[in-house]
Amino acid sequence: MTEQESGIPKTTEQFIALENEYGARNYKPLDVVLTRGEGIWVWDVEGKKYMDCLASYSAVNQGHCHPRIVEAMIGQARKLAITSRAFRNEQLGLLYKELCEMTDSHMVLPMNSGAEAVESAIKAVRKWGYYEKKVPYGKAEIIVCDNNFHGRTVTIVGFNSEEQYRDGYAPFSPGFKSIPFGDADALEKAINSNTVAFLVEPIQGESGINVPPDDYLKKARKICDDNNVILITDEIQTGLGRTGKLLCEEHYGIQADVTVIGKALSGGMYPVSAVLSNKEVLSVFHPGDHGSTFGGNPLASIVARTALKVLVEEGMIENSAKLGSYFAEQLKAVNSPYVKEIRGKGLMLGVELFNDLGGARQFCEALKDEGILCKETHDNVIRFAPPLVIRKNDIDWAMEKIDKVLHMDI
Ligand SMILES: *Cc1c(COP(=O)(O)O)cnc(C)c1O
Repeated sequence: MTEQESGIPKTTEQFIALENEYGARNYKPLDVVLTRGEGIWVWDVEGKKYMDCLASYSAVNQGHCHPRIVEAMIGQARKLAITSRAFRNEQLGLLYKELCEMTDSHMVLPMNSGAEAVESAIKAVRKWGYYEKKVPYGKAEIIVCDNNFHGRTVTIVGFNSEEQYRDGYAPFSPGFKSIPFGDADALEKAINSNTVAFLVEPIQGESGINVPPDDYLKKARKICDDNNVILITDEIQTGLGRTGKLLCEEHYGIQADVTVIGKALSGGMYPVSAVLSNKEVLSVFHPGDHGSTFGGNPLASIVARTALKVLVEEGMIENSAKLGSYFAEQLKAVNSPYVKEIRGKGLMLGVELFNDLGGARQFCEALKDEGILCKETHDNVIRFAPPLVIRKNDIDWAMEKIDKVLHMDI
């Protein structure tokens, strides 16, 4: 019997064959099989070490297996993992208080995945629209942006502009209108008396690190105020230090009414997300209106509390701002014939390649061979978004390899 038949794969090829045999093919991962992580580094099953420049789409801003978060998680797992919300637990109130104090919010709704939190925000603003704004029942509209990414549920992909994300999943939920991202005039024009909310990513992550004009969110804030429309920012990717501020909205001097966070809220340990609300939109929910078996469990709560503490106490947000600028400067100095633009904020950086080169994937494959793990986003953009614990000499190490790959023959 071969090792694979006995169920114990050893080599990269064997692990990949196993996944390919039994797994749904909804991803096309790079051919690297990881087994261990620490800080910005991960190791594959062959013992090769890589710098993680994706940070699991920003779920692991605090670095892989952060010891304080691991300790908190193990300690709580031994004590009490879940109560369900049928009963209370001693961690949840503390998470609420700490989150509200950090983000200047009034209320929190705990969920698990990012998409669930976005769905929850959609439910909240629709209910707010009917009960507070008095929009005729069934007519509420939410404005979203072209090229958005808010998750993968049927409702959410229904208002996505990526054909592949929608293909085969109809019928979709009505009540969404999509406008160009970064265009405040388009927002003003799209609003009518049934508009309840505008849902936007402060910087679009999945569609290629698209940074809007500097005054965009300020204008959007004012337009929403003038029209009694709720401003919802999806900070699942941009939040929690990624762009060099706790929330990306701080760069633009605004406060959203509703902010959705997830990903790094658990330091990557576990799915934890939350809807934060300033205008008390969340007070539309009454017992039984909405729920989640795992949302707000004690394990999730202490993991999130610790992940937030670590982010602040260990200076990761400042580090993201400082080293993000350094990384961007270094990338701009590369002078590659393939690079069209470099953009981003903090450690959320995108290198856009000219679109006649055949895509960013080949560069990500080459970077992998050099020991750097990146993922292409929207075909022509290489995203560099390492954990926020990266240091200057790590970037210097990476730049040598990046420079080489951005000058390779293709
Ligand atoms: C990742 C992401 C989501 C979805 O989060 P999941 O946990 O994958 O459901 C939503 N919005 C943004 C901006 C994201 O980056």
